[in-house]
Amino acid sequence: MTPRIDTCSKQVAGATRSARAYHGSWPKTVKRSVPWSGAATVAALGVIGTTCFYSNSVFADAEPKPAFSPEEFRAFELDTVLPVNHNTKKFRFKLPTNEHVSGLHVASCVMTRCPYKKEDGSTGYIIRPYTPVSREETPGYVEFMIKYYPEGKMSKHIHNLKPGDSLEIKGPMAKYDWEQGRRKNVGMIAGGTGITPMLQLIRKIFSEKNTKDTDTKVTLIFANQTEEDILIRDELEGYAKKYPDRFKLVHAIDRPSKGWTGHVGYVTPDLVKEHLPGPDTPDTIVFCCGPDAMLAALAGAKAPDKSQGPLEGVLKQLNYPQDKVYKF
Ligand SMILES: Cc1cc2nc3c(=O)[nH]c(=O)nc-3n(C[C@H](O)[C@H](O)[C@H](O)COP(=O)(O)OP(=O)(O)OC[C@H]3O[C@@H](n4cnc5c(N)ncnc54)[C@H](O)[C@@H]3O)c2cc1C
Repeated sequence: MTPRIDTCSKQVAGATRSARAYHGSWPKTVKRSVPWSGAATVAALGVIGTTCFYSNSVFADAEPKPAFSPEEFRAFELDTVLPVNHNTKKFRFKLPTNEHVSGLHVASCVMTRCPYKKEDGSTGYIIRPYTPVSREETPGYVEFMIKYYPEGKMSKHIHNLKPGDSLEIKGPMAKYDWEQGRRKNVGMIAGGTGITPMLQLIRKIFSEKNTKDTDTKVTLIFANQTEEDILIRDELEGYAKKYPDRFKLVHAIDRPSKGWTGHVGYVTPDLVKEHLPGPDTPDTIVFCCGPDAMLAALAGAKAPDKSQGPLEGVLKQLNYPQDKVYKF
């Protein structure tokens, strides 16, 4: 366990350095989008007819404030917990005020930590990354979709939290800086909760406010054990329906239920060849996120310091160059 924590700590330190750079310039999309949330809130409060809310800071045309710090862990109170399926729940944490946003520039994640007592009696910390499923500009709260592992230290800790309890969070931790208008052909391979960073990217690419990626095409291969495990299915299928020429969703299911007509089994070289933009396609990037074993089989494991590590596995076998693959 200790080595894992050490690695995580290094990741925090490294990511903190890059996250500082992020904070130098607040993403413009956040500034622009907050009046929308403000307007929606004005409408809702108007219906309530409560004038005292006019003093609420939401109306004060204030700059959205990032709730997280890349420098230090801060405690955030758990507000609500919603079951998503048999092993995954959605956790909503309160931000300090309605002026606060997660402000997680796409694509980035946060680090969570929980203390434990070491054998020598001193305090150690379990540290794990998570990607919010609420939007970066959402005021007042942040939400995570977290899968429970019976042997999992952090997932068990978070699943045991009750509303009113708090979780320590630090961020944002920069991952892939999505530069609008740069990539025209995007491939994604996600396994289980590995969908969360892909969701960030998909929302960004298909955002109505994004005028630079309107010809960007995205194909997502989403691998799950059973159909019940498919997270955020409605939203993903909504994009496929709304943008049939730009967003293709391919499910791969290990143990399908009767009547399943999609792909059965793991993500194979043939499945990748059939659906993802090929290695020679210009302006291409392929994103991968999933369990360690899946990542290793598809693109090679990340390095012990959590940097990208060499490209291996299926994508190497199919001749994708290293700079066209990004492992979350
Ligand atoms: C950038 C990034 C973003 C992430 N975002 C999310 C997210 O939004 N939601 C989410 O639920 N998770 C996410 N994760 C995974 C998360 O960080 C943890 O790895 C996960 O919650 C397990 O941590 P744990 O401490 O509970 O398990 P650990 O104590 O690390 O592992 C204990 C055991 O649990 C099992 N286990 C742990 N992880 C996996 C796995 N992925 N697949 C299969 N078995 C496993 C294994 O049996 C393992 O031996 C993300 C990971 C990364 C790198």
